[in-house]
Amino acid sequence: MELTRLRGFRDLIGADARAMSLVEERARAIFERYSLKEIRIPVLERTQLYARSSGETSDVVEKQMYTFTDRDEGETVVALRPEGTPGVVRAYIEAGLDRTDPEQRLFYSGPMFRRERPQKGRYRQFYQFGVEVFGRPDAACDAELLIMIDELCRDLKIPFTMEINSIGDHKCRPAFREALVAWGRAHWDELDDDCHNRIDRNPLRLLDCKRDAKVTESAPKSLDFLCDECRTHFETVKELLSAASVEYVVNPRMVRGLDYYTRTAFEVMAGGLGAQSTVVAGGRYDGLVETMGGASIAGIGFAIGVDRMALALEAAGGAQPKKPAVVIVPLGKAMTPQANVVAQEFRSAGLDTELFSPERKLKALLGRASKIGSEFVVIVGEDENARGVVQLLDLKQSGQQAVTLQEAIESVRNSAKK
Ligand code: ATP
Ligand code: MG
Repeated sequence: MELTRLRGFRDLIGADARAMSLVEERARAIFERYSLKEIRIPVLERTQLYARSSGETSDVVEKQMYTFTDRDEGETVVALRPEGTPGVVRAYIEAGLDRTDPEQRLFYSGPMFRRERPQKGRYRQFYQFGVEVFGRPDAACDAELLIMIDELCRDLKIPFTMEINSIGDHKCRPAFREALVAWGRAHWDELDDDCHNRIDRNPLRLLDCKRDAKVTESAPKSLDFLCDECRTHFETVKELLSAASVEYVVNPRMVRGLDYYTRTAFEVMAGGLGAQSTVVAGGRYDGLVETMGGASIAGIGFAIGVDRMALALEAAGGAQPKKPAVVIVPLGKAMTPQANVVAQEFRSAGLDTELFSPERKLKALLGRASKIGSEFVVIVGEDENARGVVQLLDLKQSGQQAVTLQEAIESVRNSAKK
């Protein structure tokens, strides 16, 4: 047995890990300013949860789940979560919130697992940062979430486009679905095997036909089938986005692969990612809570593909690995307690500080300081300590001087600000 990582699973090191954290940190900071609250849910759930919510015929449920039988008495069939929404909806219902406090604005973050063919931007363990808002059927909520996503993408400084569509609701979607089935039959020869299967099982997914984007140009558009309520809802979303100066494109061919979506669907595409360019995907799912056994409560949500967003961030040059602002060198073991105090003073001043080993030679430590990219070294020696000073080395300017600790902190801080 070789002890290597599994196909489609990644180790994230250095700038790659940093980019992931940056996406998650910025998403959290911005979403909390929109008054969203965190929810933490299990990684393992009953397989049945996903079959019930996502629909038996979705790709995720049909082919992509990591599922196994637990060794408990009931031999429960469990799955590693392939997405966050079903777990959040289950938790919401299980906590009784659909009855006691239905309006909830939630976000979650963590790994998801799908057994699909690995390629750039497509992994078997990937990370999502997701949002679910319950109890808000109004179009203003759709617009607010899109405004929030727009703010995050601009904050991260990645090139992006936002696409929106409306796929109707339980009243008007059946006619659209039928029209798609009829179109699929009429264009049988132009569709691949995957799509032949979709005609009966999941006709909306016909619009995702991967063989040739041109094929679907003649397909019916959901927008032509909307009932009055769905049309008004969609018009309001667009007006609110324009009023907020959010740029978007209406893509009448966008659908979502999961069955529970209604009305507004949206995706954000980032530049520089090749085929896997969708970094955010979501939409409204007004029937889901009820389908899962809860009260009839509207819902809307989306998930950021953190891995892809991080790739976009790195492509835009936005994720440099962190370097310490200063390293502290104790001259000999006896100076370690004092060096600890000095390091704490720098850290209290908000500066990233690394404390070096007291057991290595000064020359080797200075070499290491350059290697890890620190601009400053503070040497804590016995004589200096007795005089109430430290030696401050500026590695860029090759200067060294004895200064008070406060002066050293000021110098490092001024340089870090630049
Ligand atoms: P795709 O069409 O790319 O397979 P999807 O429709 O399966 O996407 P969703 O289930 O809507 O995707 O998930 C939301 C986002 O999560 C996607 O837009 C993408 O950014 C990310 N994502 C989904 N699957 C993967 C994966 N296997 N690896 C990395 N990111 C993923
Ligand atoms: Mg997929």
